[in-house]
Amino acid sequence: MAIASGNTLLPSVIQRISQAVGPLGLITDARDMEPYVVDWRRIYRGNTPAVVRPANVREIAAVVKICAETRTPIVPQGGNTGMSGASVPRLDAGEIVISLARMNRIVDIDLLNNTMTAESGCVLAALQQAASDADRLFPLSLGGEGSCQIGGNLSTNAGGVNVLRYGNTRDLILGLEVVLPDGRIWNGLRGLRKDNTGYDLKHLFIGAEGTLGIISAAVLKLYPRPRSTATAWAAVPRPEAALQLLSLLKEHCGDRVTAFELISRNCLDLVLRHIPGTRDPFSSAHVWYVLAELSDSHEGDAVRKDLELALATAMERGLVSDAVIAGNQAQSQALWHMRESIPEAARAESGMVYRHDVAVPVSRVPAFIKETQAALEQRFPGVYIICFGHLGDGNLHYNAFIPGRNRDDAAARDARDVAQTVYDIVQRFEGSISAEHGIGLYKVAELKRYKDPLEIELMRTVKRALDPQGIMNPGKVL
Ligand SMILES: Cc1cc2nc3c(=O)[nH]c(=O)nc-3n(C[C@H](O)[C@H](O)[C@H](O)COP(=O)(O)OP(=O)(O)OC[C@H]3O[C@@H](n4cnc5c(N)ncnc54)[C@H](O)[C@@H]3O)c2cc1C
Repeated sequence: MAIASGNTLLPSVIQRISQAVGPLGLITDARDMEPYVVDWRRIYRGNTPAVVRPANVREIAAVVKICAETRTPIVPQGGNTGMSGASVPRLDAGEIVISLARMNRIVDIDLLNNTMTAESGCVLAALQQAASDADRLFPLSLGGEGSCQIGGNLSTNAGGVNVLRYGNTRDLILGLEVVLPDGRIWNGLRGLRKDNTGYDLKHLFIGAEGTLGIISAAVLKLYPRPRSTATAWAAVPRPEAALQLLSLLKEHCGDRVTAFELISRNCLDLVLRHIPGTRDPFSSAHVWYVLAELSDSHEGDAVRKDLELALATAMERGLVSDAVIAGNQAQSQALWHMRESIPEAARAESGMVYRHDVAVPVSRVPAFIKETQAALEQRFPGVYIICFGHLGDGNLHYNAFIPGRNRDDAAARDARDVAQTVYDIVQRFEGSISAEHGIGLYKVAELKRYKDPLEIELMRTVKRALDPQGIMNPGKVL
């Protein structure tokens, strides 16, 4: 029998949770709960009878045990920066939010093993800083890094700007500790680079969007800290030229190519319009840009010289029409700030933005862009496309504004139509309808439409095996 009904919980359940976490660990005042019930994009607004903020893994386990006994549904929440609505409770579903914000301790840094063990509520930027203070690099980097938590990064298998060289979050993890949906604690906090003792269970929880358990801690891989970097902002005539530039850079500079981002002029216009202090790096407008970064474990300006040489060759071949290389760290940060502000700028634009985070094989990105633009322009005359993304990973944020559409019912109805136009092409290109933002609530219907039924069946089997009562982030993903 479910004890939660509507948006209430029996007082006895609240009282038991309160005893488990103490007064600092429980919020029930509606105003204080507000930030926990609305998602970053402000598309989803739910409600909750309580926000629980455990201070350690034992408290999480105690709360989950109470929830399992009383069939109280749980929504795990990190920094609430997720893009797919998975981190907030649904309306009147009686789902409690378990926020990991108080679990923000770095437990250990092992310099010889090149690992850092951290609780899941650590903010990503704090982990990057701790690694840097220890003369190491934790390479995960993305626009929301000042707020998102490593538990959220793990649960969405976040990508970000350095995937080209270091991989997704999944590739940066050696071990996990997880509170299972029945309240037991699985301690898989191993710092091993080799371990073939059966199924690698941690990978089930990475990218599961909180539907299989609550990640309480992780062992993260560290890398040598780069001693020199070079950042370039280059104008390219077409996405095909950007792809050839990437290939040329890899040829010249090998795996020192750390990031390679494609940005359309429409994105830059949005940023210049909405983000204070930004300015166009060039005196005239270009249709496409690339933001590329190289990093090296040697000090000195070799990496910058190599980048200059590669760009000069690219100019001779007509792949690049203009380029600037950042002269210092502040200039590099200013260029990155423009790239990383695109989601914020799109959010500030009035009207409805139709967002698609898709992946296709890297070699097919230019053809995908051409075909999708033609299809959308035919279907929605006047459509304004905001296309940017991690070209080196074949991952595009392919977003569209349609003139006259605001956040109303008609716009919501169009969303399905726009998405279908984009995703049908993604499917033909053998791509993914969610490259890095996950499924959440936002793409549940699309997952059913585009994923192989056998894969969905296997996912349901895993979900039933680990969470037979279905209390862990219900309604999300599946
Ligand atoms: C400006 C901006 C830029 C971004 N850029 C990128 C980008 O380049 N690449 C990219 O991949 N993503 C990007 N994102 C989205 C990205 O998914 C999130 O920023 C981040 O990974 C989510 O972390 P979070 O702590 O905010 O998680 P939340 O939003 O709180 O939660 C996300 C999901 O994880 C679950 N969850 C959270 N913590 C736990 C836990 N401890 N245990 C179990 N489940 C948990 C939640 O239930 C939810 O399903 C961006 C977001 C913003 C706002």
